[in-house]
Amino acid sequence: MLFEQFSFDPRIIAGIKTAGYTNPTPIQQQAIPVVLKKRDILGLAQTGTGKTAAFMLPILQLLNIHPTRQIRALIIVPTRELAEQIHQTTIVLGKNTHVRSATIYGGVSKGPQLESLRRGVDIIVACPGRLLDLLNSNAIDLSHVEVLVLDEADHMCDMGFLPDIRRILKRVPVQRQTLFFAATMPDEIRSLAESILHNPVTVQIGVIAPTKTVSHALYPVSQLLKTALVTALLRQLNSDRVLIFTRTKHRARSLAHKLELEGFRTSALQGNMSQNQRQGALDGFRKGKYDILVATDIAARGIDVSDITHVINFDMPDTVDAYIHRIGRTGRAQATGKAFTFCVPEDGGMIHDIEKVLGARIEREHLPGFNYTTRTSESQSQQNRPNQPRQFYSNSGRDRSGNPKAHATKVKTIQPVR
Ligand code: AMP
Repeated sequence: MLFEQFSFDPRIIAGIKTAGYTNPTPIQQQAIPVVLKKRDILGLAQTGTGKTAAFMLPILQLLNIHPTRQIRALIIVPTRELAEQIHQTTIVLGKNTHVRSATIYGGVSKGPQLESLRRGVDIIVACPGRLLDLLNSNAIDLSHVEVLVLDEADHMCDMGFLPDIRRILKRVPVQRQTLFFAATMPDEIRSLAESILHNPVTVQIGVIAPTKTVSHALYPVSQLLKTALVTALLRQLNSDRVLIFTRTKHRARSLAHKLELEGFRTSALQGNMSQNQRQGALDGFRKGKYDILVATDIAARGIDVSDITHVINFDMPDTVDAYIHRIGRTGRAQATGKAFTFCVPEDGGMIHDIEKVLGARIEREHLPGFNYTTRTSESQSQQNRPNQPRQFYSNSGRDRSGNPKAHATKVKTIQPVR
């Protein structure tokens, strides 16, 4: 299937060529004709599927007929990085059109955003907080919006933006086209979608099943050996495109620092950094100044860096959804990628859930040549953290076969000796 079949304006075809796309991805094949017909969409798709162009190409086509410099398309997204990314894609795809796009998000000064609004734009890519702020001060007029896109709606709800979104929705015309995208559809999201969509066409790409082009592996390891293991693994991989996820901002910063000391060109990407620092880290990774980016889930949401060869989950994600989103950073747009996940004994439940969603067991791997015995698991980590209570299975809590009795799982908590 070719892009030509959509009868796009030649200027949009030129933008597609500039972006380097040859064939539409499955979500583009499904969504583009629907958007062009001005129908609402309920899209179940994760990032990495070509979702941005799936809605932006037809929007550009619809707006380019008469660019008015009034906001006629509003794209609402959860993070600044995603807003910036969609804006950049719009610039590339719309390069030969007269359509103008701008971003609205917090953490940076309002001046330039107000200036682009004053000059007039056709498309706004916005995060809810700053958008609402500008709406409340009457600095932005959404009364001409014809197409509203809610992208990564499930993440916006996770991040607590639902009330803001409801307020924003009151300020856009009821008569409009709405494109609603989410990777998952919990009840809260489904009812939001049902309340704002009008007779939508459902477009569905790999809802839960993570990108097929990614191979997965688990690396059982103790907490204390994780840094040593990731260092050894990175040496063996010798890759210049690795994204590592940690559970907290502090761990992202500290691991990035340790890897830098080991000689890896590394940067962190976490929420405590200023917008400029975050952009610097992302640009540095994109342009090859850094080979490794250590990020938290929120900071990395929606980032689009092509050719990520490996995603390493230094810490197990908290939800299956987070796992899918993390590994969605690799194996994008038909390339292949690898997802390595470090796991400690407590991660058993989450592994079970992830394997259920994947529909397959994930291989347990041991890194050849790595000394797993230098410091063994919990005992050593407890010795190094003397204030932590130690937990044991008591023999009396087990039946004759050694299995835990129904009433007794973790039974004894031994306070450390000071
Ligand atoms: P997205 O899901 O919009 O974040 O897109 C994921 C990646 O796929 C981005 O790097 C896009 O530039 C790329 N992409 C989108 N559409 C196509 C296409 N038709 N052919 C090749 N790459 C594409």
